[in-house]
Amino acid sequence: MTHTTRNERRTATNVLVIGTGAAGLRAAIELAERGVQVLCVGKRRRDDAHTVLAAGGINAALGTMDPEDSAEQHAADTIKEAYHLADPAVVEILAREAPGAIEDLVSYGAQFAREPDGRLSQRYFGAHKYRRTCFAGDYTGREIQRTLVRRATELGVEMRDDVYVTRLLVHANRVFGAYGFDVDSGVRQVILADSVILAAGGHTRIWRRSSSRRDENTGDAMRLAAEAGCRLRDMELVQFHPTGMISPEDAAGTLVTEAVRGEGGILRNAGGERFMERYDPERLELSTRDVVALANYTEIAEGRGTPAGGVLLDITHLDRELILERLPRMYRQFVDVAMLDITHTPMEVAPTAHYSMGGVWVDAASHGTDVEGLYAVGECATGLHGANRLGGNSLVECIVFGRIVGAQAAEWSASLDVQVRDRRAIADAAEEVDGLLAQRGGRDFPRPLQRAIRDLMSRHCGVVRSETGLREGLEQLEEVEQRTRTMEVRPDIAGYDDLVHAFDLKGSLVAARATLECALERRETRGAHNRSDFPQRDPALEVNLLWRPDAPPARERVGEPSPAIAALLRAGGELDLTGRLLE
Ligand SMILES: Cc1cc2nc3c(=O)[nH]c(=O)nc-3n(C[C@H](O)[C@H](O)[C@H](O)COP(=O)(O)OP(=O)(O)OC[C@H]3O[C@@H](n4cnc5c(N)ncnc54)[C@H](O)[C@@H]3O)c2cc1C
Repeated sequence: MTHTTRNERRTATNVLVIGTGAAGLRAAIELAERGVQVLCVGKRRRDDAHTVLAAGGINAALGTMDPEDSAEQHAADTIKEAYHLADPAVVEILAREAPGAIEDLVSYGAQFAREPDGRLSQRYFGAHKYRRTCFAGDYTGREIQRTLVRRATELGVEMRDDVYVTRLLVHANRVFGAYGFDVDSGVRQVILADSVILAAGGHTRIWRRSSSRRDENTGDAMRLAAEAGCRLRDMELVQFHPTGMISPEDAAGTLVTEAVRGEGGILRNAGGERFMERYDPERLELSTRDVVALANYTEIAEGRGTPAGGVLLDITHLDRELILERLPRMYRQFVDVAMLDITHTPMEVAPTAHYSMGGVWVDAASHGTDVEGLYAVGECATGLHGANRLGGNSLVECIVFGRIVGAQAAEWSASLDVQVRDRRAIADAAEEVDGLLAQRGGRDFPRPLQRAIRDLMSRHCGVVRSETGLREGLEQLEEVEQRTRTMEVRPDIAGYDDLVHAFDLKGSLVAARATLECALERRETRGAHNRSDFPQRDPALEVNLLWRPDAPPARERVGEPSPAIAALLRAGGELDLTGRLLE
């Protein structure tokens, strides 16, 4: 199938939002409330964006349960958990604005858990000093997503679930829209806009085991931004959750909640040994996420795992009724997905890529990027989490900075005198799609090449990394890149999925390269980044790493927290995390 004449649809709007997850929708709501025309697009159904997976909760120092809590303490906890790589300016804005974000959600109708007297309930979550996590059962993300979709609909926000964005349109370092295609019909989309908000998620699906589902978090945001001229930051900093399912293959990585260990689940290797006795004899399975992830990884890597490459998480010693009452979602998940009754049979688990702490570089206050008129927000942006994300902070990041970028984009749009629409840039974007559709003669298709990336990232850039492994990973990535030049992309009568997979693959290639190159450059062990050849933290590397496609990673100094927060950081001792959920 060759394309000589293109079926192209043109649309113009004041602000284009790419992404219909929590971050994109909150931005769109802000724009609509300000009376600014906005179009919000996504590549999958808005009621099923990745955000719906979020379970545990959303943070704000409301003090409903612990009145001594404060925004400053929230900021201090976040900076500490981030191993001092978070941007203190981003953290302070987040902590200050978080209570307002919860207020917004409640005013839109979000049903969070409440105490009998009507106060919002707040619980402990990870390394927070106080109870500051609001929740809606273990469906917090779903409730927030539902609330935001409803609010955006009420406000008349135009939302489209079928637009795949392939390129940002830029002229003289100023964004003027985006190019893409309709995922069902293949009709090309030229969307002209004064300003663009990128809210297209992270890149954790480029590992073989990932808590993201198929075709989400494939690194699209990172590619779109990097090719438009933005810098990426700290791409090597990726959080691995200790326990993801390992089979069936198409569900590999699906999260097994830490509540399983909280309820008394025991980890064993293939030899039946309770190996946490060696890694953390006191806290055993209730040790911190990074320690358990490293322990599971080490057992598997050193040959003590199961034949399928996992370790066993066993709750069969617990009362069946208790399991059904306390872990109903896990019980259902294993029955539905793996036909396995966890009350009788141990679960096979392994570490799974869970969250992208790195992403698109943004200015702290505005979340503007290196390209004028272009903003980034949510999991695709960076600055808040440093080398380790504090549980519950990402949802609130979407809501706080979603509002802020909405306001910024509105102001940018209103301030524009002239907007240049560069026909050459549009033609280049169109030719990129034409070129992919015209490729013939190779033996490769996008899906197996995606798998090749996921395999090499898991092998060479997983929980533990080394110079040799990372270099091998880069060599193998180069081979995959070569093969994509001749791969065949064949949309058919059922739709343009194959073209979607090809562009997902292009996103993954950029995200993988950035991650490998930054992981190589960070010659230390810090937070979620473990280097077997550099097992210590290096004070000289208390910096952020900035990445561009055509230059070696550069270093950026981390700012100083305000004096009040610095004092809390100095005063804070070690927290006892026993029994706390960390997702
Ligand atoms: C199992 C699990 C549990 C979690 N629990 C919590 C928790 O308890 N608390 C917490 O704070 N966080 C939690 N998180 C993290 C949190 O869910 C995410 O960080 C957050 O939802 C990201 O939202 P987002 O809006 O940035 O992106 P997403 O929700 O990922 O949305 C991205 C959007 O971009 C669109 N998109 C992507 N590429 C393109 C393209 N090329 N063209 C067009 N559209 C595109 C997608 O269709 C989608 O609409 C959890 C994550 C997981 C996986």
